[in-house]
This record gives sequence, structure tokens and C-alpha cells, in this order.
Amino acid sequence: MTSRPPFRILTPPASLGVIGGGQLGRMFIQAAQAMGFRAGVLGAIPEGPGAQVAHWSVVGPPDSLSALRQFADQADAATVEFENVSAPALRWLERRMPVRPGWKTVWVSQNRLREKTFLQDHQLPLAPWRPVRTSEELTRAVEALGAPLILKTAASGYDGKGQVRVDDPDQAAQAWNQFGRVDCVAEGWVTFASEVSVVVARGFDGQALTFPIALNRHERHILDVTLMPATVGPIVSQEARDLALSVAQALGTVGVLTVEFFLTTEGRLLINELAPRPHNSGHLTIEAAVTSQFEQQVRALAGLPLGSSALTSPAAMVNLLGDLWKDGEPRWSELFRRDPGVKLHLYGKQTAAPGRKMGHLTVLDPDPLSAMDRALAARSALTRR
Ligand code: ADP
Ligand code: MG
Repeated sequence: MTSRPPFRILTPPASLGVIGGGQLGRMFIQAAQAMGFRAGVLGAIPEGPGAQVAHWSVVGPPDSLSALRQFADQADAATVEFENVSAPALRWLERRMPVRPGWKTVWVSQNRLREKTFLQDHQLPLAPWRPVRTSEELTRAVEALGAPLILKTAASGYDGKGQVRVDDPDQAAQAWNQFGRVDCVAEGWVTFASEVSVVVARGFDGQALTFPIALNRHERHILDVTLMPATVGPIVSQEARDLALSVAQALGTVGVLTVEFFLTTEGRLLINELAPRPHNSGHLTIEAAVTSQFEQQVRALAGLPLGSSALTSPAAMVNLLGDLWKDGEPRWSELFRRDPGVKLHLYGKQTAAPGRKMGHLTVLDPDPLSAMDRALAARSALTRR
């Protein structure tokens, strides 16, 4: 068994690999390539968003030994674009190259039971919750939390998939059955004033910094709009950034980590969930920050000093979901005609399904609310016939 190679800084044209071939992998690859790195991907399909722009790509599931071997032949260091990579797979890679974030951060954040236990053990604030692994635990959870509550599968949920709101305690068993009685968490319903998030980057040397706090609006449990900086005042903003730094430090994360919060009506921050990677709410940092979240991921992976995460301008981002393709290709020419400040990102996905993230728009504006209005207006123009 080889032992972990000694640390060295990777500089261009070293080859950086990302596990996961979606839009986050694609934007990581683009950031790496802009700096002169070679960049490749391990993804599920040959023509995914990541593979389309990569120097090299390996097709396969992230936990297949043969795929990992091919990946290890090409990559000098590895990162992830999603949390569903097994701890054994990451440790296998860690014996061969730097892997950032390491298996621990990914393992904790890929399972809501582990994630909430971890946060609780570190006295970090979160909504009331209970584990649901047996019928007895479900009964106790309903007794403790009351209704409404929200039942979430412990593993592999995203964009509201794998979760259901339970309004009547008598429906809890039915809701759990519907998930095949897999391990779940039950969470008290939070009446929040808003949802916010903080993207943290933490370097190999422990240097850590956060982007400004993002304000997120969801539709159908899918992120719809982000504003940065969030208009939540300096105290909440500082608290959110400090909490995000505490999480990254407690996990020993090297790389990029995102903390999603609920901001309750009393102005309290509760951690909703963690993502061991850049986040949809940080996409606007590509245009609005000195260093984007993806460049920070590259820098942390390569062992380079982090860049400044200061904003050069307030900004807003709106997602482009597959629904916009309902009547055919959106009218891109309208978008470009009406507002020269709108920046278009498309991920190269071949099929547009409702709710599927196909791209996003970013607008910079001294007033983040007017950035949002302009981005929303641009998006509406795409489907106006
Ligand atoms: P994911 O983003 O992985 O789908 P989340 O746990 O972040 O899962 O839930 C998605 C969205 O559902 C949240 O951003 C929020 O809008 C809503 N939601 C989740 N949990 C709660 C809760 N306990 N109370 C109220 N709303 C919730
Ligand atoms: Mg979420």
C-alpha cells in the first residue's frame, strides 16, 4: 500500500481532476483552465457538462475501482462537485494524491443524520430534529416535533427531492413508507424570514475566508434567485460568516464548503445543510468577486494561497430551469438585446426537463435589488412570444 505522498504545491500545467461531471464540475474545470492547469473529470456520461470542456474525461460511477484507476492515472489532485462519493473511494484516492475536501467533510455532509449529529456535537445552531430509522423513532420524532414537520431522506436528496412536509401526525408513517422506510431525519418546520448561505474557502495552511452572505429565494424547493450581499444587516451577516468558518474549521475542510441557513423571523440563524463544494448561490462570484468560488476551489486544491473573496460589485443571479424550454429554445437574442449587463451561463445539458438546472444569469449592479429586477426581467424576456 502506498502512503500519502508528501505535500507539494501544484502549479500549471499540473492536472486537476473533479469527481462529478455536472455544471459545478464544468465551472471548476473552466476556472482551472483559465489559470493554465489541465483539468479533467470523472462523470457518469461521456458528453456531460464537465466532459464537454475538459482536457480529459473518465466515464463511470464515482465508486468504481476501474474508473478511479483511470482517474488516478490522469489527475495530480482531486476534488468533488457533489457529496455522493463514498469514503472508501476518497480514501483510495487520498493514498495517491491530494484530495480536497477530504473524505471526512464529504462523508459528514453526504448524510443528514451524520451532518446534524456533527453540528449538534459542535454546539452549532440548527432546527429541532430527530433521527428516523425505526417506527419507534418515527413515533418519538412526531411526539417531539409536532406538526408540521418535514421528513427528509438521510442520503441523496437534492433540490427538494427526498423530502416531504407532514402536516398531520397521522400521515407521518405513510410519508416514511413512501420513502421505502430508509433512514431519514425529521425536522421541525421553520418559519423563516429568509434563507441565506455562506461559501467558505479554506486553504491547506488553515487560512480561511468567506464570501459575503447570499440571500436565496427558492421556488418549489429549488434555488431561484440569489442576491449578494444579502440585505440582512451587519450583525447577522457577521454571525453567518463566523458560523460558516466554525463549520469549516470543525470539519478540517480544505477546499470550498457552503453552509445554508434559515434566518428565522426573530433574526436567529439556524444551519439547514452543508455542501462540501461550491454552491449555486455562489455562481455570481464568477463575475462579482475578485476570486470566484471555483477559483478558490482550484487554489485550495493546488495548495496555493486563496485569492481575495471581496466583491467587486453587488450582484444577483437567477437560475434557468428546464421549464424555460417548454415551448422550444428560449429567445436568447432578446436577452442580449435588452440589457448589455446580463451575463449568460449555459451548462451544455442536452435535454431540458422541468426543474433541471440548465444555466443561470448574473447581473452586477450597485443595488443588489435592482440587479435582481434586471435579472428577472431578462429571464422573462426569454419566453415572451
Ligand atoms: P436540498 O437543498 O438538499 O433539496 P434542503 O434541506 O436545503 O434540501 O431543503 C430544500 C428547501 O426546502 C430549503 O431551502 C427550504 O426552502 C425548504 N425547507 C427545508 N427544510 C425546511 C424546514 N425545516 N422548514 C421549512 N422549510 C424547509
Ligand atoms: Mg438545500
